[in-house]
Amino acid sequence: MECPDCGGSCVSQEIGPNQAPSTQLADAILDVEEGDHVVFTRQCWTCGWSEDRHIKVTAIETDVGDPAIVERQQRLSELVDELQQIDDDETLKAALRDVRRRRQSTDNATTEPEEDGV
Ligand SMILES: [Zn+2]
Repeated sequence: MECPDCGGSCVSQEIGPNQAPSTQLADAILDVEEGDHVVFTRQCWTCGWSEDRHIKVTAIETDVGDPAIVERQQRLSELVDELQQIDDDETLKAALRDVRRRRQSTDNATTEPEEDGV
């Protein structure tokens, strides 16, 4: 991404708190628990611009189905809403792509029929 302030390309991105430096935004979001938050920090090494975004995981209501799965999907859709507030297109698109991919793989995993030892 480019720095919104000076246009420089030396912008680092960091995910926190308690996330490894190499953690991707979507990973951090998928790991975070309800009521907790992810801090997404960007810093320009050229001009010193920096920004913290706090992405909070809000209350999750469960619906029909396996509560864990519903919870996860609702969490993801809420997070997508949160992510849409990020104004850096590249970061946002990358994160959303990642989240969608994960959601799809979750769907695939959960649509398999359950067989009781037939
Ligand atoms: Zn800058």
